[in-house]
Amino acid sequence: MKYVVILGDGMADYPVPELDMKTPLGVAHKPNIDYMAEYGELGLVKTVPDHLNPPGSDIANMSVLGYDPDEFYTGRSPLEAVSMGLSLADDELAIRCNLVTLSDDEPYGQKTMVDYSSDEITTAEARELIGFINEKLGSDNMRFYPGVSYRHCIVLKTDSSLPLLCTPPHDISGRQITDFLPKGFMHDELIERMKESHRLLKDHPVNIARREKGLRPANSIWPWGEGRRPALSDFEAKYGLRGAVVSAVDLIRGIGLCAGMENIIVDGTTGTYRTNFEGKAGAAVDFLLNRGDFVYIHMEAPDECGHRHEVPEKVRSIEYIDSRVVGSIASRLRDAGVDFKMLIMPDHPTPLVLRTHTHDAVPYVIYDSRAKYPLNPGARYDEAFAAATGIYRPLGHMIMESFLKDDVANV
Ligand SMILES: [Zn+2]
Repeated sequence: MKYVVILGDGMADYPVPELDMKTPLGVAHKPNIDYMAEYGELGLVKTVPDHLNPPGSDIANMSVLGYDPDEFYTGRSPLEAVSMGLSLADDELAIRCNLVTLSDDEPYGQKTMVDYSSDEITTAEARELIGFINEKLGSDNMRFYPGVSYRHCIVLKTDSSLPLLCTPPHDISGRQITDFLPKGFMHDELIERMKESHRLLKDHPVNIARREKGLRPANSIWPWGEGRRPALSDFEAKYGLRGAVVSAVDLIRGIGLCAGMENIIVDGTTGTYRTNFEGKAGAAVDFLLNRGDFVYIHMEAPDECGHRHEVPEKVRSIEYIDSRVVGSIASRLRDAGVDFKMLIMPDHPTPLVLRTHTHDAVPYVIYDSRAKYPLNPGARYDEAFAAATGIYRPLGHMIMESFLKDDVANV
């Protein structure tokens, strides 16, 4: 038996006027997934407990993979750090380090947060700046590591469990930073380095060149989102299955790596509806036929469309997942004569009308290729049909155990 999770990030939605008060899942043409909804278990599952905020993809995907976020979630930075290839020892704290643009004239503590992304600085420029900062401000217990674009990482060696309180820079766009500088444990050292970073970066050749091109300079570091590596139990030890994660998103890759799973990198994956769907499906089938038993395929596209209020694109991304991922994997496994189970679900809703995530329960299907007759005749995979079955799982992190059980009712 092989196990496939198809995770359509943010697929679930609310009815929208553009679709005659239906949801994207309600109107999308998706014969493969709908067939599985008829022949499999269809219901609702709550992936993010109401008291965890915000309902992020990191928490939700951890839950789907079988790890109770209340017990295991330690923040987004350590997941990003792990996905960057940093191992993070028990005495190391990962802190997200943005390269930001602050206003020019005032003393440091009175500056304004102009842009949390420094005009989405390129990775090449950022690598040079972070390398320079590490050379000048790094020490044995504080190192700066370059990531992608404006997103970098500080690794701090410390046994202290005292809290450090930082503010996400995207929450204070256009505001004076005075009240939002780090507080708590080691705040002095961090603020000192932030000030120094401004002195070092403001006239750095990279920033001079950016100004000449009319782009905002990356003139300060901004630490936030600190956390230690989550102590996820090894997926294979827990479930007895060799697993892999296929995703373009660093947080999801980080969860897989923390759970000891293989991280399959597929060329041309972008996290949008123009991503390389076939590449992901092909890599998953190759892994299942040759190296392992469980694969977790994460597709970011529907979530992006939700955040951007792109209605037809959200519908299309679901149709692509159906034909180019679900249908393609199912037919190739059938052709190979391999029994499989498939769990199809989003991590959380990203309603088009809200353009952000919610805590609502999401529709899921657990399908077994050995199923012989429909459990839900006439059903489709959408929010309304899932609610109508009356099946509701209140604890998202328990769904993995049920999915991996080898019991099929309708053979
Ligand atoms: Zn998500």
